[in-house]
Amino acid sequence: MIDFSPPPHVQATVEAIERFITDELEPIQRDLARHLSNEHLYLREDGRLAPEVLEAQRTIRRRSAERGFYALHMPKEVGGGGFCLTDMFFVHEAVYRHGIGVTQWLLSWTEGPNQMMQFLSAEQKQKYLRPMIRGEWTAAYAITEYRGGSDVLSMETRAARRGDEWVIDGTKAYITNAPYADLIMVCAMTAPERRSAGATLFIVERDTPGLRIGRTYRTIMDDGMTGELLFENCRVPLANTWGAEGEGFYISMGMINWIRVRRGGMCSGLGQYLLDRCVSYVKNRQAFGGPLSRFQGLQWMIVDSYLDVQAMRSLSLHCLWQADQGNLWTLKVDPSLIQAVCALKVFCDEALYRVADRAVQVHGAYGLTKESGIEKIFRIARNLRIPGGTDEIQRVNIAKMLGL
Ligand SMILES: Cc1cc2nc3c(=O)[nH]c(=O)nc-3n(C[C@H](O)[C@H](O)[C@H](O)COP(=O)(O)OP(=O)(O)OC[C@H]3O[C@@H](n4cnc5c(N)ncnc54)[C@H](O)[C@@H]3O)c2cc1C
Repeated sequence: MIDFSPPPHVQATVEAIERFITDELEPIQRDLARHLSNEHLYLREDGRLAPEVLEAQRTIRRRSAERGFYALHMPKEVGGGGFCLTDMFFVHEAVYRHGIGVTQWLLSWTEGPNQMMQFLSAEQKQKYLRPMIRGEWTAAYAITEYRGGSDVLSMETRAARRGDEWVIDGTKAYITNAPYADLIMVCAMTAPERRSAGATLFIVERDTPGLRIGRTYRTIMDDGMTGELLFENCRVPLANTWGAEGEGFYISMGMINWIRVRRGGMCSGLGQYLLDRCVSYVKNRQAFGGPLSRFQGLQWMIVDSYLDVQAMRSLSLHCLWQADQGNLWTLKVDPSLIQAVCALKVFCDEALYRVADRAVQVHGAYGLTKESGIEKIFRIARNLRIPGGTDEIQRVNIAKMLGL
């Protein structure tokens, strides 16, 4: 028999996370309520997070790490929880069923450790990965450039050996956590003529001379997290490569696959949150002499969202189970796993977008207000379809696997 329920060790963790949310995160969320519903308080003038918000993020990350939640997806040997991808689906789903506020900060996102860090050396794991797993340090993974987005290998950032150092020059754009990261993991071409085998990843500490943190973008999400990074004659020791010279593209793709598979529990959790909100709203809102819930036009919209949530869960669990049978955290991934990962990402991102659009519609004007918390998820859902590889790039990859 196929069992779609979380295994006991995951169920126990989910229950512990629920207690953590109720006891420790909800009070923080109440204190920050005004900031969370008003971007003029949430962000500073320059687009960066307000100090209170940044402090809350850091506090939650550290406390989550202390309780063993922040790095559940990382191997036990480096201080993680050893959860597989299907285990992590249930964790992500449970957290995102609380909507968007401060609760999602208990999970590691792009700023956190990822499974491709197994390619760090023993000293690097000790120096860089351990503090990340403890929630003390965060990273930014810098691949995209103004002229090299989907077409990653057209990147113009270069690194060259000079004596016992690498010298990095170039500009990285739209990088999550760039304004705050302690470590920048930057991908640069070291042998452009070798294409995918000509990129290398470097670890650059934040205060390294030649690294400049550029502007923070105002985006559709206005989350204060996305920034620009400039490298001008930036020198790092030869030992500061992540993996070997020429492995940077493959490690970067592995890191992005973690971002992609995370979408399963995230999107279905947020979808379920919106579905619950819609059901409750139409039962309570009175119009034309009774509750809105009696109108079939609205019922069908809500049923379509139910179908999307069910489909997200089923497809995600199937794809993640498939990924757990193989190995995503390697330099050359089996193409059938890439197909599964891309299918999960494009399906969940688009399905959540449909669910969020309907949720705004069902809630009328209230759904458009900042205080409803619904328009924010709609904006986040719209955003999701671009980072981590766009909808079209997921389809390009799936088409290749289909032999097209
Ligand atoms: C909020 C946010 C956070 C991000 N965080 C990071 C980060 O932490 N690190 C990082 O390195 N990058 C990050 N990015 C960058 C992100 O990965 C890129 O924006 C994304 O890969 C798309 O690249 P692009 O914006 O240059 O679009 P382009 O590649 O220019 O694409 C423009 C359009 O053309 C389509 N297109 C391109 N090529 C094809 C094709 N072959 N077939 C069909 N359609 C195609 C695209 O799908 C898209 O619709 C982030 C972006 C955002 C918005």
